[in-house]
Amino acid sequence: MSIEISGESLTKDLTRASFVPEDEGEFSLRPQTLKEYIGQKKAKENLQVYIQAARQRGEALDHVLLHGPPGLGKTTLAQIIANEMGVNIRKTSGPAIEKPRDLAALLTNLNDNDILFVDEIHRLNRSVEEILYPAMEDGEIDIIIGQGPSADSIRLPLKKFTLIGATTRSGQISAPLRDRFGIILKLELYSPEELELIIHRSADLLHIGIEPQGAAEIAKRCRGTPRIANRLLKRVRDFAEVTADGVITKSVADDALTRLDIDHLGLDNIDRRLLSSIIMQYGGGPVGLETLAATINEETVTIEDVYEPYLLQQGFLTRTPRGRCATRQAYEHLHIPLPMENSGNPAQMKMDF
Ligand code: ADP
Repeated sequence: MSIEISGESLTKDLTRASFVPEDEGEFSLRPQTLKEYIGQKKAKENLQVYIQAARQRGEALDHVLLHGPPGLGKTTLAQIIANEMGVNIRKTSGPAIEKPRDLAALLTNLNDNDILFVDEIHRLNRSVEEILYPAMEDGEIDIIIGQGPSADSIRLPLKKFTLIGATTRSGQISAPLRDRFGIILKLELYSPEELELIIHRSADLLHIGIEPQGAAEIAKRCRGTPRIANRLLKRVRDFAEVTADGVITKSVADDALTRLDIDHLGLDNIDRRLLSSIIMQYGGGPVGLETLAATINEETVTIEDVYEPYLLQQGFLTRTPRGRCATRQAYEHLHIPLPMENSGNPAQMKMDF
């Protein structure tokens, strides 16, 4: 039996859902209104009601927490909320706000009903987070004036504002912060049908010729993630222009994605390396996340945020209290014989003994 496990993946940046500089042009692909925003039906419908109600009352929208894997449209949705509310949005991120005074400066510069968008809000440091509590709850911040024994604290009223926090790891948000969000929305991986619509929309905006089956092929292979769909669309266009007549057909898309080492279910080299390590080195699992990360030379955060959501959704991986396990589908997908032939899930079988 031989399994191809190549070293550093050529496709690493292509299928990694986090933002890379090449995505710069994605701003022009961002939908601007809720109507243009494809998928996420439940989150969108609820949001529509909250926005309409806030607008009717002439109030700021309640604070919103958006969570879900990278590239699913959290930043896009924050911008859309601002557009729909007709207010300004200031964008920053958790690690960029280093000191309480940085946050105080941001908050005191907001106008009535404005939005402050904080990406990676789970990475705010504690002292900054503590300024946020009274700001979110009472619309006030405490500012320390002076130093040493003569230092004094004064309360400063803020204009009404909406905090929109985005995170890939809602579990890492402290309870007091989480409790202060009135609206919590979880974004899910997109269905192939939704991704097809996104790909057609982006192709229109970028003036790329694409046939429906070409879009369907990319949609099947982009890990349920719009950012990856857009990125693959651009790469497949290159192949269409150089190796065909410029139009993305099913066979052009298939050929290009295969050359990019993205298999027919959208798994890249790292996904395959991750699954085959669990199978070949740890008997199918369970194996702890840290051990797995060290084995395949990736960071635990990357495995949890980027690779696992899709592998779990596709049923290749299970998470158990004792670690990660490869499923029967993983063995089959990698063409590795199951350890026992009578079985359901090999991982489950191991657990039962
Ligand atoms: P996140 O903030 O969750 O990492 P982004 O909001 O930056 O993700 O989305 C990445 C890209 O994917 C956007 O530039 C946009 O073009 C596209 N996108 C995301 N969600 C949608 C959607 N629902 N409909 C159409 N395009 C989308």
